[in-house]
Amino acid sequence: MMNQRPDRPVLTVDIGGTKIAAAVVAPSGEVVSRARGASPDSDDDQELVDAVARVAGEALSSIDARTTDMAALGVSCAGIVNVHDGVVVYSPNVTALRRTPLKMMLGDRLGIPVRLGNDATLAALGEWQFGVGAAVQDLVYVTVSTGIGGGIICGGRLLEGSCGAGGEVGHMTIEVNGPRCACGRTGCWEALGSGTALAARTVHRLDQGEPSIIGELVGGDMAKVDAQVVSIAAQQGDALAQEMIGVTAFYVGVGLGNLINIFNPSVVVVGGGLTKIGDALLGPAFATARERAYVTSACDVDIIMARLGDDSPLLGAAALVWDEGT
Ligand SMILES: [Zn+2]
Repeated sequence: MMNQRPDRPVLTVDIGGTKIAAAVVAPSGEVVSRARGASPDSDDDQELVDAVARVAGEALSSIDARTTDMAALGVSCAGIVNVHDGVVVYSPNVTALRRTPLKMMLGDRLGIPVRLGNDATLAALGEWQFGVGAAVQDLVYVTVSTGIGGGIICGGRLLEGSCGAGGEVGHMTIEVNGPRCACGRTGCWEALGSGTALAARTVHRLDQGEPSIIGELVGGDMAKVDAQVVSIAAQQGDALAQEMIGVTAFYVGVGLGNLINIFNPSVVVVGGGLTKIGDALLGPAFATARERAYVTSACDVDIIMARLGDDSPLLGAAALVWDEGT
């Protein structure tokens, strides 16, 4: 990968459940233009393509560029993306994307080559190329947010798997009889270590009548309990909140330990909204990861925070275009 980077910029788009972000990325990795728009509230894939074209067009027009100035369009979206066929098989938050030949539809619409990828996989590629640096050959990237996603760089290559769904780390089983996951299975890492899991676990204990300031913080509305509220309560010394963050940190660490054992990475990069809790979560999570990782008795691993924030899938989409050539 990364033999020769073309001199033309790449148009990139990240399609989410509520918003579409577009950026023009220069070959240096610099984002030279951005635009954002709302995702259409519709099951119609053509409406989604229209919205993507509109937001992408805004990113181009603000720097007086045309579609044909771009090497290609790199597209990131959540869910299962068959990168070889260019089909979005399933996206959890975007109902318009169900077995949608998005690569073909956007290519027809914009008239430039299109590359697609899963958002967490592309974030891994972005963090590798533009965060940690491509000198690292073995990297595991994990994003812990409302769900858990990830991507694997193995021997200097992005692991895609047979149909592009490799690196779905959030759905490895951590507890066979654990809580139900959004995917329908039980005990997935995402069902135990995500922000959603933290909130669910906390609400369950509050419902049992545990004393805590969290109820006050949300005005008695349990639907408002989220990772951020639990974190605020923990900072104010709330024992239940601190315990819940500790339990979540443990599960985050167990999953990271498994990944370290399987891939023997030199670097693990951890990003996503839940990392905003900071040391109270990450300290014990990273310690558990090291304790649980058998291979660290032979070689150590750096566990570090992601550097690129929300830009990582966009930069990864650009790197995907450059890596594959156009
Ligand atoms: Zn699952």
